Amino acid sequence: MRIACAAFALLLAAFPALAQNVKITPIGSHPGELCANDRAIIFEDPTGVRFLYDTAQNVTAGDDPRLGAIHLVLLSHMHGDHVGDLKLKAPGEGTCANSARVPAPNSTTAEVVAAKNAVLVTTRAMAGFVHNKVDTIRGGGSKPMDFCPTLAATVPVPAACSSRIDMGGVFTAKAEGARQGVEFTIVYSAHVNDVAPSLLSKARQDLLKADGAQLGYGPPVGFVVKFTNGLVAYLSSDTAVFGDMKTVIHDFHKANLAVINLGPNPGLFQSGAYALNDLLEPASVIFTHVNEAATEGGKLRANTQTAALMKQVKAPAHLAISERTMEFDGKGKCVSGC
Ligand SMILES: [Zn+2]
Ligand SMILES: [Zn+2]
Repeated sequence: MRIACAAFALLLAAFPALAQNVKITPIGSHPGELCANDRAIIFEDPTGVRFLYDTAQNVTAGDDPRLGAIHLVLLSHMHGDHVGDLKLKAPGEGTCANSARVPAPNSTTAEVVAAKNAVLVTTRAMAGFVHNKVDTIRGGGSKPMDFCPTLAATVPVPAACSSRIDMGGVFTAKAEGARQGVEFTIVYSAHVNDVAPSLLSKARQDLLKADGAQLGYGPPVGFVVKFTNGLVAYLSSDTAVFGDMKTVIHDFHKANLAVINLGPNPGLFQSGAYALNDLLEPASVIFTHVNEAATEGGKLRANTQTAALMKQVKAPAHLAISERTMEFDGKGKCVSGC
């Protein structure tokens, strides 16, 4: 048996195409580029489990043809650029610095969950919001969206449901017939979680405006995803540098791939090198959420904040180029498409 396993391992090494890689495909505003508004990323486990991390303002609708099968939708927080208060008019429209978008009053998150009958992975507080929006999309008479009956599901699920986990909770999604599932753990993100006002009722908007207030939906979150090939991806969402990156993400979860949101607000253009080199220490990094037109003709633009940070990061860093599929092995190494 041991000899057979060793022979199989050798075979995989000799033929990388046969290896069990995780496929990662960003879907942003402009094919072949990393643009200012890009956030959404599709992940595909070797067993076939496919999920979308933050629908954002990057999909044209719940049935955006670039999506394909989506078994789960991850929602990190309620800012409009993540829950999706706007949707993409069409890939390539507008500029890379400012893509053309139109209102999505039910949120792109709810649109995709409804269209794909997907599992929503997020906190219970944020799930409540999406449940209502999915019910609105489906109209009266349909069965209300609810939490999934268990914390482990075989996907595709028969009806859209949500994960019923909060900080530290684990949800497992297994493909039909697979021996092992993909594990999703909710982790903290050092950010805020105010909902985009345009997604609220007019009465609520007026009340909030009268008090100069924002409506928060509990803590914003990131995710640690353990794939069946051994890849452990940390999906940071919007976050400042914080201690959990070392203790929880690196020491406990042993994440070997860090998918990092940049942008000026949480300050990772300044602190990102320390976060990656000293706290997270991943085998590879993927940068997204750059809030600037980072590429032109698919190549990193030299005088960007993204380029300045890339120079300081020790691990191989890759850009989340829209509609380009990268493949990662179980050790966090990019083996194709980077
Ligand atoms: Zn945010
Ligand atoms: Zn954001």
